[in-house]
Amino acid sequence: MARAIGKDLQAHRPPAVKEVDILWITAGLSCDGDSVSITNASLPSIEDVVLGAIPGLPKVNLHNPVLAVAVGDEFMKPFWDAHEGRLANPFVLVVEGSIPNEKIKSEGYWAAYGCDPDTGQPITTCEWIDRLAPKATAVVAAGTCATYGGIHAMSGNPTGAMGLADYLGWGFKTKAGLPIVNVPGCPVQPDNFMETLLYLLYQLAGLAPMIPLDEALRPRWLFERTVHDGCDRAGYYETGIFADRYGSDKCLVKIGCWGPVVNCNVPKRGWMDGLGGCPNVGGICIGCTMPGFPDKFMPFMDPPPGSRLSSSSVKVYGKPIAALRRITQRRLNQEPRWRHPGTRLESGYQTKQ
Ligand code: SF4
Ligand code: SF4
Ligand code: SF4
Repeated sequence: MARAIGKDLQAHRPPAVKEVDILWITAGLSCDGDSVSITNASLPSIEDVVLGAIPGLPKVNLHNPVLAVAVGDEFMKPFWDAHEGRLANPFVLVVEGSIPNEKIKSEGYWAAYGCDPDTGQPITTCEWIDRLAPKATAVVAAGTCATYGGIHAMSGNPTGAMGLADYLGWGFKTKAGLPIVNVPGCPVQPDNFMETLLYLLYQLAGLAPMIPLDEALRPRWLFERTVHDGCDRAGYYETGIFADRYGSDKCLVKIGCWGPVVNCNVPKRGWMDGLGGCPNVGGICIGCTMPGFPDKFMPFMDPPPGSRLSSSSVKVYGKPIAALRRITQRRLNQEPRWRHPGTRLESGYQTKQ
């Protein structure tokens, strides 16, 4: 059985690589917030990955327009090289921002990246994705816009914006047999993205099995628990103590927190170096990692449907349980009586006066 699993993993494992390029396109419908966010990562940091400080990783050449020193033609060169099959190394394609539907406009373009040297005309982001995704070893969507459409794909938007999996197809596989890897968040939590990238780099180096993803193509170990599971305020929820205003340190469910039904590890992980994390620091969870974000969570700040029922039922048993716990707590805050001098125990032993 173990051998069969090993063979299966081997079959999905791309050949080991020593050097890899990361071609990062921020020219979906994007605010560049995910590129900015990852500069806060520390587990690992982008610097550690790019400077080769982590044992076992391939050498990494990062090409991200927000973080690059190179500009213009010099910056675009690796993208053209990849398109024309001249790039020396395998590459990971990272897409940030939602993908517009270029077929529904009457003129112009929705999003573009660089210009065609022959015509001088902008090359649409969709065209770059069409060119590069089939040649990439791994394809990663960074942030909720790129994963599921996000803010730009709200009802009524004129661009037909969508996530990468809706654009390429949910069954898309890279030439190395990897599915699209979605790391949602608006913006993406810095360490969630860098840890996923680290995993993929180890996978490319032949040192990790196939990345485990859920049905929304998110890394399982990062997104299988809810916000509520890791929230600092969960004890208040359990005993029916709820905030009725912002600024309170109690559970925020009655003032718009969706944490109990949202897959996200931010309260557990914090935002930066373990600090922060939406509800932990007073912000309601608005479900920014979810495929239904933002439409299914609006209007923000209204109590989520079902929260009235759940919070009222919790109150019925939460308050008496909290009172009983206080009695137990008082007892536990006292030393056992036989530690006091002169106290007679049932065994007959008496401590020294
Ligand atoms: Fe900006 Fe959020 Fe979209 Fe990222 S997911 S590009 S941070 S709006
Ligand atoms: Fe759950 Fe939100 Fe309350 Fe935290 S603040 S305990 S996530 S409902
Ligand atoms: Fe987004 Fe909620 Fe996670 Fe905060 S806790 S990052 S609002 S999903």
